[in-house]
Amino acid sequence: MSFTFEERGNPNTPSYRLFFKNADGKYVSPFHDIPIYADESQNLFNMVVEVPRWTNAKMEIATKDPLNPIKQDVKKGKLRYVANVFPHKGYIWNYGAIPQTWEDPGHKDVDTGCCGDNDPIDVCEIGSQVCLRGEVIKIKVLGVLAMIDEGETDWKVMAINVADPEAKDLNNISDVERLKPGFLEATVDWFRRYKVPDGKPENQFAFNGEFKDKDFAIETIKSTHDFWKALISQKTNAGELNCKNTCVSGGDSPFSISVDEAKAVVEETCPCGTGDPIPCSVDKWFYYEKLAVDDLFENTNQFASGIKHNWQKKGPVTIKKRIVDPRTDIS
Ligand SMILES: [Mg+2]
Repeated sequence: MSFTFEERGNPNTPSYRLFFKNADGKYVSPFHDIPIYADESQNLFNMVVEVPRWTNAKMEIATKDPLNPIKQDVKKGKLRYVANVFPHKGYIWNYGAIPQTWEDPGHKDVDTGCCGDNDPIDVCEIGSQVCLRGEVIKIKVLGVLAMIDEGETDWKVMAINVADPEAKDLNNISDVERLKPGFLEATVDWFRRYKVPDGKPENQFAFNGEFKDKDFAIETIKSTHDFWKALISQKTNAGELNCKNTCVSGGDSPFSISVDEAKAVVEETCPCGTGDPIPCSVDKWFYYEKLAVDDLFENTNQFASGIKHNWQKKGPVTIKKRIVDPRTDIS
């Protein structure tokens, strides 16, 4: 099944939207209508690319808007761009989500001890190609990282585009370490610190920040698919989520809407117009000092719990001390 997208509004402004269409030209929700599986017998999943590698705009499926277009996250009235924490630039993978999955905020995960983040499950695609925003690709799952973001479970699935020339050589998480040395460590580092320039604490991880393998990842994805099934059939309260769809279960979902209603949703937005430039401030690099284990001991009371897990296992990898105040520094 192939999907296309249609951009609306003005790029790099709050009016920008990216809507999805199926092969019949029918508008669909990327959250609910695009199937989870590209090939169930081979455990191949679909991934909706929200953020192409090396870009910074925090684009995501708008779970609370009708038809769930991709739009840029807005914080305090400003478009959100992730900060570049040295040596990273933007997202270091193609980043996106698996459709028809949901991390249920009413379900406490046994491994993380935290409830879901109310979003579809996130994916980091590590292939050689830079994907397009809105592309729907087939992925092979390789593993998963259990991130805990401000008390919420936020799984990060590691995967590779099946169409990537390297895909045949990557079949599990150990292959990533073998063929792309440093990438997994960089991934944990990225997720740990990416919100620090915005004044947020470092993120924490279950399993000492170690990746679980392919089988564990597939089971995790399947459990989030079960939560989504309960959501779309109204067995779980959707809260503010918008579950309107045009294709689920041949139209017998309680949230099913007609082709014309879906078209009207898109037509309520402005046609694609002239965009604004991306602000230069987005290119800034932020630097942090790595402290030794002894310093960590001395400073333990300043830091959130869970840090000890990381250095006990892996050594002094945690970066603790901010040496530049990012948003006030003008250098
Ligand atoms: Mg998430």
